[in-house]
Amino acid sequence: MPRTILADFAARVHAGARGSPARDASLVEMPRKLAIGLAAAASIALAAGSAKALAPSGAAAATLVGGAVFAGTGLRGGAALVAFFVSSSLLGRLPRREGVQAQRRGSERDAVQVLANGGIPAALALAASAAPSATCRVLLSGFGGAVAAATADTWATEIGSRYGGQARSIATLRPVPPGTSGGITLAGLGASVAGAALIATVTRCRGGKTRVAGSPALPIVVGGLCGSLCDSLLGATIQEVRFCDACCAETEALTHACGAPTRHLRGAAWCGNDLVNLIASGAGAAAAIITAIAADPRRGNRSVRQPVSQRGRASWRRETRREPLAFDKR
Ligand SMILES: [Zn+2]
Repeated sequence: MPRTILADFAARVHAGARGSPARDASLVEMPRKLAIGLAAAASIALAAGSAKALAPSGAAAATLVGGAVFAGTGLRGGAALVAFFVSSSLLGRLPRREGVQAQRRGSERDAVQVLANGGIPAALALAASAAPSATCRVLLSGFGGAVAAATADTWATEIGSRYGGQARSIATLRPVPPGTSGGITLAGLGASVAGAALIATVTRCRGGKTRVAGSPALPIVVGGLCGSLCDSLLGATIQEVRFCDACCAETEALTHACGAPTRHLRGAAWCGNDLVNLIASGAGAAAAIITAIAADPRRGNRSVRQPVSQRGRASWRRETRREPLAFDKR
């Protein structure tokens, strides 16, 4: 039936130019998801603000980040953010070892801190929602890697400084005082893998219809570990280290945990903790994207689920069937 084939071909060209029906449907849903995401993120941010985990500017930034992530990735992406934020806040409240103080005064995060950790995930989530399915899967791995990097770094810092014993500089491997930027411990490394694995698990868990469903765990864990190590490496080399004269202690913060202002000690003055977090977040995303492409180059269409509507699902199945996958033949 040449006519049917022609019609089919025309339909495919048309679909290729316009994006799949599933994609169109998900783009149509975008404003609704954005509204839901903003509302959910705002209520979580308000609760976090009243629990003194977010400053007002941090709550505003977290609302924007959360809204963008939910709109772009659905429930699981949002859950990954919540898992990062809740676990970090809880670990930050564990009792500290004697002589080890918090890096910052209080644990309230401001807008700059929120955006340093959440800006890249939010951008990748939005980009993924507008991308074709194979690209979408890779971008979602990047999203997971960036969130995992922030989680891994926070877990490593909070666990390593409490239960890690003697810390060593990641650059020289010489012993450094606890809490020093760029210091690593075995417990901290283990915690960073566990933190990244938590994010990989949350983005994969079943029981919902979202586009993060197919994100493989490996790229996210690799991204988290690489981002965390990048953070330590920058911390040991170019990151600005400040000094609190009141406590005779090194710190990363402009205002020490004791409340006293701090002064520049060494490192590049322009390279503060927030910039290091941003770079580490980008490194985590990049490592996850590279791993996703390298580990699994041919399964793009399959790994990302784009349910949304029955029509979209049927079209997605057709697309998948058109290109037989090497892995399925075994
Ligand atoms: Zn102090």
